[in-house]
Amino acid sequence: MDFKTPLQYVKGIGEARSKCFAKLGLYTAGDLVSFYPRTYQYRGENKKVSDVIDGEVCSLLLTVDSPVKSGGGKVQYIKFTAGDDTGTVNITFFNQKWLLKVFSQGRAFRFYGKVTFGFYGKEMVSPEVEPVLHGKKLKDVIPVYPLTKGLTQKTVCSAVNNVLPLSEDMQDVLPEDIRKKYALLSVKDAVKLIHAPNSRDDVAKARRSLAFEELIVFQTALRISRRGVSSSKGIKMTFKNSGVKSFFESLPYSLTSAQERSVKEILSDMCKDTPMTRLLQGDVGSGKTAVAAAAVYFAAKNGYQSAFMAPTEILAAQHAKTLDKMLSSFGIRVGLLTGGLTKKQKTVLQESIKNGAVDVIVGTNALIQDAVEYQALGLVITDEQHRFGVMQRARLTEKGGIGDIKPHMLVMSATPIPRTLSLIVYGDLDISVLDELPPGRQKVDTYLVGSEMRERVFRMIRSRIDEGNQAYIICPLVEENEESSKQSAEGYAEALRRGNFSDINIGMLHGRMSPVEKDEVMRGFSKGDIKILVSTTVVEVGVDVPNATVILIENAECFGLSQLHQLRGRVGRGKDKSMCVLLSDHAHGKTESRLKIMCETNDGFKIASADLEQRGPGDFFGEKQSGELVFRVASAADMNMLEEAKKLSEELFAGGQAKYPELFAKAKGFASGNERGNKIS
Ligand code: ADP
Ligand code: MG
Repeated sequence: MDFKTPLQYVKGIGEARSKCFAKLGLYTAGDLVSFYPRTYQYRGENKKVSDVIDGEVCSLLLTVDSPVKSGGGKVQYIKFTAGDDTGTVNITFFNQKWLLKVFSQGRAFRFYGKVTFGFYGKEMVSPEVEPVLHGKKLKDVIPVYPLTKGLTQKTVCSAVNNVLPLSEDMQDVLPEDIRKKYALLSVKDAVKLIHAPNSRDDVAKARRSLAFEELIVFQTALRISRRGVSSSKGIKMTFKNSGVKSFFESLPYSLTSAQERSVKEILSDMCKDTPMTRLLQGDVGSGKTAVAAAAVYFAAKNGYQSAFMAPTEILAAQHAKTLDKMLSSFGIRVGLLTGGLTKKQKTVLQESIKNGAVDVIVGTNALIQDAVEYQALGLVITDEQHRFGVMQRARLTEKGGIGDIKPHMLVMSATPIPRTLSLIVYGDLDISVLDELPPGRQKVDTYLVGSEMRERVFRMIRSRIDEGNQAYIICPLVEENEESSKQSAEGYAEALRRGNFSDINIGMLHGRMSPVEKDEVMRGFSKGDIKILVSTTVVEVGVDVPNATVILIENAECFGLSQLHQLRGRVGRGKDKSMCVLLSDHAHGKTESRLKIMCETNDGFKIASADLEQRGPGDFFGEKQSGELVFRVASAADMNMLEEAKKLSEELFAGGQAKYPELFAKAKGFASGNERGNKIS
């Protein structure tokens, strides 16, 4: 067995189970070695019965002190009491009759689970049990792994134990003297410890070492990909004859001063002979598209093509339309490249990109993956960048350009990135900020309500529609799976059609629809034919229909704050007062205070900071947003290490590849999208 051994050949896994592991993104023994626990149960920190508080999850060392009773019909149960010298607990198991023999009076066990205070005293239902045997020490810390259907903690744990010896062969990316200086474990010790710690201290040590390594690798990867850009030549454009002024005059509004400033910064970057690498950051609705259009206009007037990337097909279609409206009168031709095209249409379009008949090509990331050939690509724009993932963006810059001449790059993001992080992630990107909304925007009033209010919300939606406005309803998120999202949207729309809104044209949008179908629905909604758009989160980013003034978000508790802010950003785009209703029956405690933040502020920056605090940068930038894993260990708690890691990576990078071969190798793997620790290419 080595890192590359397919999981199905690992002892204890086999073919059927290997498919379950694949669902978790694990294919090889090496993947499993770096599949870290999600959390831990500190079972060694056992409590006394009298000290437990209601609802607490803890472990108790108890002796069975009553005979076991059993009974039940369809659902079988067994019950008994067990206690220590401070009290007793009623314990129940369902459908596990074989346990009858296990719990004989006088035997001692360690129980782990939630203790609740019921009518008959303290109780535990189906806790985890381990017998306390003389001379055998129980483990103090039990790792808890992410699971998927078909896998149990036991299976994953034992599979991990079977591959763990491989960690002996893991290479450190940092040399020993540096590890010593920063008090880091070697990677093999850290990996062993993170899977099998004996204390909280072990967990902390292992996590710190692995997180630090991750941050260093990440930083180095960014540096490598940026060196590629900054050492290359840019395309020097000029203002001569570009007539930018006439473009501005053609807009139906005048630019905000923030937009004006950003346009100036961008265009002057494009006149330099080094490639632009600029981030345009602005809250939802701040008018990033117009700024981008100015850049596209400028490139086209200089004789260069632009590639405009959007995260979803819907958004790509919308951008293509907007750009066409703004630019076609200047003879600038827009092409839309999406998965919805027939093979023939695609070939025709690719041909016109190649021969320069199209000036701006808008599309999803199919744009990078496909073998698109440009006649003269001068500008690459990426919209809503947090959905793409940081490294994916870096790869994009590598594409395009002739020889070492690289196109200018503009990244647009609606997610304000807290300063600590932006320093690290965007280290040497230039930043333009749209810190001002177009005039006349009103705060979107936001309410958090329970489902008993749904009827009232529907009545409110009805009256808005009567006034000529439109509404979004984000339907419950069942599971992140396309089939179930389809069912959820269809079911919801159907219920509305049969119930409150039988006389109203309702449209529906979900991930299972073809690009053509989605486009048709969006067009109907933009035109105002569709009054209510029932949708999954596919409308989350960028969709712009100013006449929509209400958004109802079902199961609001399922969404992250930044996502809710994006969703809410679909309304409040026109002159009419808009409203956002967060519906949740699970808004208690922490969830409530999280959702309340939405009611209190419309400020994307505050929301993003709160979001980051709660989720950590792994989720913030990573997997869930973009399908790309950035950090597996590092989290918000490790932010204090960022500065340190950044400084060190600067030093190491300057030292060069010959001095730190492992670090550079790993960073390159990371940068090329092969970031799963040990999946060796
Ligand atoms: P975002 O930054 O979220 O991408 P958009 O570019 O979609 O924002 O712009 C949001 C809305 O604001 C659009 O309807 C756009 O036409 C309008 N808009 C953009 N700039 C201005 C401006 N300077 N004055 C008035 N409306 C504007
Ligand atoms: Mg936008």
